[in-house]
Amino acid sequence: MNEFDNLSVSDEGMYVWLCQMARQIDAAIAIINPNKGYTIDFVNQLFLQTTGYDEDDVIGSTFSLLQGPLTDMLNENSIQESIKHGLTFKTSSFHYRKDGYAFWNEVRHLPMFNQQGILQYCVIIMKDVTDSMNIESLIELEREVYFSLETGHPLENVLRNICRSVEITFGKKCHCSIVLVDENDRMINIYGEMWRDLKKLDENILLMDIEDKSKINKPLIIKDLEQSVYHEAYRPIIEKYHLVSMWSQPILNTEGKTIGLFTMYFEQRAEPKTIEIKYMNRVAPIVTLALKYFDQKSAIRRLAFRDVASGLNNYERFKIILNDWAAEQSRGHLYIIEPGEYQKIIDLYGRQGGDEVLRQLANRIQNISTFGDSIIARYTHSAIIVATRLSLHEMNIPQFEGEQVLSEPYYIDGKEVYLTLKIGTSSFSSGINYIEAVRQADNALSSALKVTGSVIKNFNMGLIESVEQEMNILAHFTRALKNSEFFPMLQPKVNMVTGEIESFEALARWNSAELGFVSPMLFIPVAENTGNIYKVDLEIFKKVLQWQKQRQDAGMKLYQVSINILPSHFYNPAFVESSIALIESYNINPKFIKFEITESVELEDVLRAKKIIDELQRFGIETSIDDFGVGYSSLSYLQELPFKEIKIDKSFVDDLANPRMNAVIKTIIQLSDNLNMMSVAEGIETEAQHLELKRLGCQIGQGYYYYKPLPIQQINELLDNKIKISFSK
Ligand code: C2E
Ligand code: MG
Ligand code: MG
Repeated sequence: MNEFDNLSVSDEGMYVWLCQMARQIDAAIAIINPNKGYTIDFVNQLFLQTTGYDEDDVIGSTFSLLQGPLTDMLNENSIQESIKHGLTFKTSSFHYRKDGYAFWNEVRHLPMFNQQGILQYCVIIMKDVTDSMNIESLIELEREVYFSLETGHPLENVLRNICRSVEITFGKKCHCSIVLVDENDRMINIYGEMWRDLKKLDENILLMDIEDKSKINKPLIIKDLEQSVYHEAYRPIIEKYHLVSMWSQPILNTEGKTIGLFTMYFEQRAEPKTIEIKYMNRVAPIVTLALKYFDQKSAIRRLAFRDVASGLNNYERFKIILNDWAAEQSRGHLYIIEPGEYQKIIDLYGRQGGDEVLRQLANRIQNISTFGDSIIARYTHSAIIVATRLSLHEMNIPQFEGEQVLSEPYYIDGKEVYLTLKIGTSSFSSGINYIEAVRQADNALSSALKVTGSVIKNFNMGLIESVEQEMNILAHFTRALKNSEFFPMLQPKVNMVTGEIESFEALARWNSAELGFVSPMLFIPVAENTGNIYKVDLEIFKKVLQWQKQRQDAGMKLYQVSINILPSHFYNPAFVESSIALIESYNINPKFIKFEITESVELEDVLRAKKIIDELQRFGIETSIDDFGVGYSSLSYLQELPFKEIKIDKSFVDDLANPRMNAVIKTIIQLSDNLNMMSVAEGIETEAQHLELKRLGCQIGQGYYYYKPLPIQQINELLDNKIKISFSK
């Protein structure tokens, strides 16, 4: 309600009275006549001044005359509706002067009724409130800046938002940029939507003699870029963004030294009015304060948002940025990356070793060009998390950069460490929030952790099922051990030249009373993760010894049997002693037992490994290195370890036709020969593979081509019949 509400005067004289009043009042006024199609009948002098129009332009036209490109049309429509219905209102609208300048117009409507209550005139009272609206928007912006910095948003986001906010609230369509310089006036960085293109410009041109401007401290106004000295240097962005004018304002620090430039680029010729210069003068200090505040906060923030041990961002920081991305409806991918050897690294080099490896890993990932816009943080003590706003097919990682991360050694205390990386990925978009995406990537990681070598697993629903399956296995595992449900199958190792069975490998099998047959690929990782693998190994070991004892007692020929031992078991302090004791308790010659140790980073601890191998050897037990070629492929340390046998992994055998791989296998076979090691190829399935490996000098073969793993009963029958395979030449 205001003082004019429900004003009603006689028809006669009303118009005259209104005009007189309008001439005297200190506000811009237009009188609209509902009986003439709501056109303007009268305006006062202040109206003409405010809008820049002549009387001839205005009289007879409608109030929509003041609308322009950035006018909010919803608001305009409600203005029209209120006028037509004779309702009083007060609103602010973005209106345009005749010369194209926009201003914030505070519009009030005063309906004039005659004695019969019929609307006779609409009095529009206007006021240019641009200045106060600008101040309001800047106050709002300043608060926003502080809030963002307070809540740990990165400076780059804050500066980008300042640009964006000015672009939205400023009266003219513009693009903004903030350039920061160091104490030597060299550019540090550029922010704003055009940063990529601006970065390509000559730095000196971009900074526009910043030295001089620091003295005059006035905005540089270029009304027509085409006609300016900058037009050649700016050509690419003038053309791309159709730029005409540019205003640039130095950003000073609290000591008055120039620390950057705030620049507005216009697609139309623009010459700043006094209030616009005032506006620019107010934006620059917001940037100054943001920088100062950021500096003050950064020490505290470093603690709050850093993982102190590794120096990486912590997960809190990661969540904040992901939240920002979610607000921007970004889509992209998450990667949770864990070195397969993390635990072993801790054992060998302590916690600092683990921190160091994650830090180096994060650095290398950050250096991959396509990961430029990503955020990397420490996720758990053993994993880092990476988010990028690229889709998987955009993630074209150059081979060289990929190899830097995967194949090149990492360094701890000056020592080389090779990593295999287990990677779980998932995607996020407006449909999937990032908390869910992190959970999914975690799930994918769990499945990646079960596979040997470097592996990347994408989340899919099947993973959920496999997690359930794993829980299920775990639940039945203890009972299985008690009920002795684990038993060995034996797979012959065959002399590739003669076709004779030379020895066997014992492979664990689990026939669960509740679950049925469970693959070792499933239960071995569960057993390992729960620290139970040695119990399975022992069970298999005992059953193998029982078999040999039976054959020995029956006076039959004994064969060497390989027992699989995971490195975690191998390094157990009691391993050697208990193995020897067990073999002795069955009274079997130790030469009939071989231990297959999976190749892994632990063997890096050459001294420790050598000591164990030597002790076993002294007692008469041979050792073999299993799955050679997967992940940690280094022949260099092998020569220091007295293994008797090297087992070339199936993945190599599968790739025999590849000339590069063929050459690698040939080298491995030759080297192992030089080192007096027996070479065994695993997973031979075809005659072609058999022939090729034989040609390359491989001595022993194992695989379905010869025999599948068989139950002991069938092995006995096989040996009784003294079956010999006849090979094609
Ligand atoms: P591994 O020691 O490398 O064993 C070779 C695997 O290749 C076995 O899988 C074997 O069945 C399979 N294999 C043999 N020939 C062929 C072939 O021609 N084609 C194909 N596709 N596969 C072939 P399995 O039995 O599933 O065992 C998987 C892994 O589980 C083993 O790999 C070993 O690392 C582990 N494992 C098995 N038994 C034990 C055990 O008693 N203790 C420990 N610690 N690990 C075991
Ligand atoms: Mg094996
Ligand atoms: Mg193997």
